[in-house]
Amino acid sequence: MTALAPADIVAVWETGESRPDWNRALVALARAMPGSTPGDLASLSIGERNARLLALREATIGPVMRALVNCSSCGEPLEFEQRIDELLADYSPPPQREFDIAIEGYELHYRLMTSQDLATAVQGDPSRVRRTLAERAVIDATRGGEAVAPADLPEPVLEALGSAIAENDALAQLAIPLACAACGHVWNASLEVVPFLWAEIERRARTILEDVVTLAHAYGWSEAAILEMSQARRQYYLDAIE
Ligand SMILES: [Zn+2]
Repeated sequence: MTALAPADIVAVWETGESRPDWNRALVALARAMPGSTPGDLASLSIGERNARLLALREATIGPVMRALVNCSSCGEPLEFEQRIDELLADYSPPPQREFDIAIEGYELHYRLMTSQDLATAVQGDPSRVRRTLAERAVIDATRGGEAVAPADLPEPVLEALGSAIAENDALAQLAIPLACAACGHVWNASLEVVPFLWAEIERRARTILEDVVTLAHAYGWSEAAILEMSQARRQYYLDAIE
């Protein structure tokens, strides 16, 4: 994966700022993978999308993700670190898109979720996003040989289906193992890839634009000229300002 240049980071942030998360993810990938069509990117499974986003983050910002979280038992803050190469080392894209599963007497034929599904699900009732996604995943469902409409499937069946989808689409959901030094509590924190990476892109874009203001003011250079500089060169000129 090629790193996003400073001008790309600013352009991705500017384009994605007013858009929902599923769309921000595609804006960033489209910039990093100009050979892919929007349709190609939108039909990646969520796990495949996340694998590409993590590779892009590693190339652009670096290999280690860090964040502050609060212990889910005692509330004590702790910093977690996760190396992206560890997440990607064992990753392989799902070998197939459609699967069968039997849950509580129901026979389900289902498929993995894509950004197109997320786009549709977030347009509806926010409290029904998970249910909408699970219903969309069902290609056909039967019980005792009789067809069942996805909307008529009971909640526990759709929940079990959600877990099966996550198992078959590696990296669709990221669980980071954490241990609290203060109380000894051990748990898995889920890492939402797109909001996490978007916050980093936003911070990076704002820093770059602040540098543009400072350098333009000090040297009279244009925005375009400053955005073309590497971070190292920008920093050199910033340090030279007295
Ligand atoms: Zn704790």
